[in-house]
Amino acid sequence: MLTWNYPEIPAGFSCHNHTSWSDGSGTLEEICRKGKDMGLKVLGISDHWVKPPFPGTDADSWSMDLSRTGEYVAALQKLKAELEDENFKLLIGLEVDVFPENIGEVIVELQKFPLDYMIGSVHYSGTFAIDYSPESWKDLSEKEMDDHCNVYYDKLEVAAARSEFAFIGHLDLPKKFGFIDNKKYFRRAVKVLDILKESGGAIELNTAGFYKECTEQYPALEILQQAYKRQIPVIINADAHCPEHLMRGFDQARRLLQQAGYK
Ligand SMILES: [Zn+2]
Ligand SMILES: [Zn+2]
Repeated sequence: MLTWNYPEIPAGFSCHNHTSWSDGSGTLEEICRKGKDMGLKVLGISDHWVKPPFPGTDADSWSMDLSRTGEYVAALQKLKAELEDENFKLLIGLEVDVFPENIGEVIVELQKFPLDYMIGSVHYSGTFAIDYSPESWKDLSEKEMDDHCNVYYDKLEVAAARSEFAFIGHLDLPKKFGFIDNKKYFRRAVKVLDILKESGGAIELNTAGFYKECTEQYPALEILQQAYKRQIPVIINADAHCPEHLMRGFDQARRLLQQAGYK
């Protein structure tokens, strides 16, 4: 289980990380050893688990092979047995892509595995991959961009209402490549926070955004301040796709959260 208390900013945690089981570059063993060497107290591995309810997406190129979920969990259990000690805990997670059409069945399917936690994230508007590349955004009309953002937040509301997710991934992801005015969707983001408040959910400060075209964390400071007001717990994550990035941007992230009120 992955839990911590509001308004505490958990220290020594890094729980949104990918390996070569999905679209990351390090092996499970490499990333787990690196996390322990770096002095993390709690390392969570959360490879992508994407089951679109319709054809036409590029999910096969970045999701784990769903038929091998049991092997993934078993490999992590083995590493847990080898590496865990009183100072280091390894959590078995998944970053689950939320599709309103099948999320109920997907959760039932995943609850059969001894997972420590699941992240609820949205990466698609229909078959359009929100965070794949700037190329896919650059020729869209303003209306098309607006439609994708609204579908994104519609789906995120569904994710936020589920009590099974430890937290919601990268809340304001559509800003990633710098094509939209993120402030335009502030109310939509706040609505997601209101739903999380009801469902008992949490969010992450995801530092990967610092290094993308948007040049800021997900979500924006104004949204973090609203999360603080609503007493929504927050965790700092790197969304690392290689072992070296497990704690990338964490000092800056902590300062931002303190600015928002968290301790
Ligand atoms: Zn993601
Ligand atoms: Zn991720």
